[in-house]
Amino acid sequence: MTITWPNQKRMAVCLTWDFDGESAAYVRYPKQSRKLLSELHQRRYGPTLGMKKILNLLDKYQLSGTFYIPGYTAGVYREVTKSIREQGHAIGLHGYIHESLDDLSQKDEEDILLKSKEMLHDILGYAPNIYRSPSWELNRWTPDLLIKHGILSDSSLMDDEIPYELKTKGGSIIEIPIQWILDDAEYWGHTRASRNKTIVDPDTVFKIWSREFDGYYDSGGCFVLTLHPFISGRSVYMQTVEKLIKYMRQFPDIWWTNLEEVTRYCDELRKKGELEIKESPPAEPFGYEALLRG
Ligand SMILES: [Zn+2]
Repeated sequence: MTITWPNQKRMAVCLTWDFDGESAAYVRYPKQSRKLLSELHQRRYGPTLGMKKILNLLDKYQLSGTFYIPGYTAGVYREVTKSIREQGHAIGLHGYIHESLDDLSQKDEEDILLKSKEMLHDILGYAPNIYRSPSWELNRWTPDLLIKHGILSDSSLMDDEIPYELKTKGGSIIEIPIQWILDDAEYWGHTRASRNKTIVDPDTVFKIWSREFDGYYDSGGCFVLTLHPFISGRSVYMQTVEKLIKYMRQFPDIWWTNLEEVTRYCDELRKKGELEIKESPPAEPFGYEALLRG
């Protein structure tokens, strides 16, 4: 299945940042966070320095970015959060304090979603209607929870290069797919807890990203790059992101946009029945019992 992009464009490109601040460290390393300073300070590089560089980069190329922000981070860095919006970028929900959905009950997940909406509403004057789950995990009930609370799109699943309509029990939500290989944290995320992981040569990462982009250009997909201000806000990584922007800008007929715009556009297609519809795999494998019986 293909998608028709606006103005005869061939594909869409969205540069996205998960503006997590210190949030994920509190959830992943609660004991250490109460006692130790280093990991929290490392992550603070994002809101204090990384974000300035990112906003300058987007301004330099006149691009609109997408920032997914946990409610807690938005609350601690209110002015940075406001300046993102004031500079014309899109903002999405990303948990309250980067809670991984794996460990949450449906009730807790709903409370967290509402709390994060409330916080961003308080800061921005409106509640974002796009969502990306922290660490990209979804529970079976998550899409319906999002639909119930007015969220139009999610960007956490990996089964396509083109946005689609994910059908659920209660309705449908627009899914804008992502991928681990298009995430800076996989190559350059380096913490004390993950010191065994090698830092990947930025030129190798450029090779992976640009070749993957070539594939999206062929398929007419929506290329979504996921970055983190405390990681690729660093100069060496920022240069790689800029090199990729320059590379992609050589190609004609690209819709350079953000995930709010893609969501709005796909919502129109959905209403006209022009967006591909998919359903999630079943909770139990098809015919498994019969297979066992032989
Ligand atoms: Zn995140």
